[in-house]
Amino acid sequence: MDCIFCKIVSGEIPSFKVYEDDATIAFMDINPLSEGHLLVVPKRHFADLFGGDTDAMGSAMTAAGKVAAGLKTALGIDSLNLVQANGPWAAQSVPHFHLHLIPRKEGDGLGMDWPLVQGDMEAIKKTCESIASAIT
Ligand code: AMP
Ligand code: ZN
Repeated sequence: MDCIFCKIVSGEIPSFKVYEDDATIAFMDINPLSEGHLLVVPKRHFADLFGGDTDAMGSAMTAAGKVAAGLKTALGIDSLNLVQANGPWAAQSVPHFHLHLIPRKEGDGLGMDWPLVQGDMEAIKKTCESIASAIT
């Protein structure tokens, strides 16, 4: 399969690996948004959250907790964004599920602090009911 993260998992292409267990690997993002930006990646290939392998996603989340603790100690940070993209309009560029761990610092200007604008409660309720009835 022509997947760059599968090739990193298999060792076919190099990475700066920080962590590995049976199900998950974590390595540095080579286009970092901040110092310490890294990716936590299930070893098994699946594209995204939609119908993804829930066991593998759970393992990735457990690994993310361990790696985040290491980041905190190593870099002395107290803030981090966990970001995960699904599909082109969410800016997913590599179609192999992954979690971004992005350390944050005061005034870093990364701009993930969107304003709170109250929504239409009737519309929220309707959408809520539609989603709830679609969850199997
Ligand atoms: P996304 O846009 O959420 O799919 O994120 C994909 C991420 O993978 C981007 O932040 C890239 O910088 C990163 N990336 C792509 N290729 C590599 C690579 N060979 N090693 C490490 N990170 C990579
Ligand atoms: Zn893959």
